[in-house]
Amino acid sequence: MELKSLSKRRAIAWVMAAGLAAVIALVGFDARGDAQGPSNAQSVVLISGDGMGIQQRTAIQYATYGVKERQPMDALPVTGFLDTIPRGRAVSDSAAGATAWSIGKKTRNGLVGLPPSKERVPTLLEIANEQGKSTGLVNDHDITNATLAAFGAPIDNRDRKRAIARRLLRQTQPDVMMGGTEKYWYPVGHPGKIPDESPSEDRSRNSENLVAEAKGLGYQYAWNRQTVSDLTGPKALALVQDSGLQRWKEVRGYNPMDDPFYVPEAVLLEKSLEILSQNPNGFFLVAESDDMDSAGHEHDGRNVIATGRTVNAMVEVVQEFRETHPDVLLIVTADHETGGMTIETKNETNTNSDGDDPVPYYGDGSLNNAGPNGEVPPRSGPFPIKGTDRVFKVDWTTPEHTGGMVPVTAVGPLSELFMGVHHNTRVFDVAQQVLTD
Ligand SMILES: [Zn+2]
Repeated sequence: MELKSLSKRRAIAWVMAAGLAAVIALVGFDARGDAQGPSNAQSVVLISGDGMGIQQRTAIQYATYGVKERQPMDALPVTGFLDTIPRGRAVSDSAAGATAWSIGKKTRNGLVGLPPSKERVPTLLEIANEQGKSTGLVNDHDITNATLAAFGAPIDNRDRKRAIARRLLRQTQPDVMMGGTEKYWYPVGHPGKIPDESPSEDRSRNSENLVAEAKGLGYQYAWNRQTVSDLTGPKALALVQDSGLQRWKEVRGYNPMDDPFYVPEAVLLEKSLEILSQNPNGFFLVAESDDMDSAGHEHDGRNVIATGRTVNAMVEVVQEFRETHPDVLLIVTADHETGGMTIETKNETNTNSDGDDPVPYYGDGSLNNAGPNGEVPPRSGPFPIKGTDRVFKVDWTTPEHTGGMVPVTAVGPLSELFMGVHHNTRVFDVAQQVLTD
């Protein structure tokens, strides 16, 4: 099947809009407000397990589902592989990986939603906006991270998180934004809603109250399980507890389920689908699990498996939604692998590659790095293979990303186009066709 490119009319609209944020916003608004506009109801949900290579997926399968029942993300009917190589390097970061999905072009590491020329081109989120569809971004960490910014706030520096938040509100205005780290949205010194948030990475000064600005733009605002549950849309901003706080479990005894500000990502995703599906024209939604990448960098096999439960729970939410909305293309993949994770027998020693942070964070002793004689650290296993008397452990080659292909599984309209081995830009090509058909 041939993949369509942007129509000439749309291309001209985009040339005219380049560099003019206000114009971009107006184009989106006009398309949504036009009752005579496109009425096709096809939708796309993209789920990314950041850093989720084939060994991660296999470890999650063994530990959580065993060897008989196929885990939800691998039970989807179509399977393929995507390369992850960016421009100019062998190994991708999340910015270049997500940009290949969002604009269909390979780019350099660090560039978020921009080709190597840094010239603005429409992202899948903007293409969906223009089709009169609703759009959403969901994350377990902050929604201003590189992966989601590649869709909603293209920028040449992934660390400018407050600038990304401003761009989300003032340029692309996704209808639903849900994730952690409210600090990027409140002025410096403002207490916000969440008393015990994990530390902010962005130290830039910010005197703007972007939460107030969002409310002025018509966004409902939520900050805990109850207020998320109360959301009705059509526009919603939920800034809840960053799931990264779970890493304080051992040191501080933090229990997310005792924290009213923690909302499981599958719950955020379910609420997002409820809101976005009110639009008869369909929607485009990206949900990422950033925790998977953190666990890989830290050589924390236990957290890889725990995060895998989140990814599978999100796939189950979408599959249940698809029972009444079969016109949804679901894509589950990763931007790259993290850590060089490998499944081994329990008798093997571990290599000397250390994770990039101690686990637990700043506690006594390290649970994630191998002993001097290759003793297997507790966070590498052994892990029982569910339903058997067998165990496995994992090993790691690097605290960084690796360059292998990643699996992609899919179901729904045009999902068969993911069969085989493709560039990671295939995500853009197929999703664009579904969104514009
Ligand atoms: Zn990473």
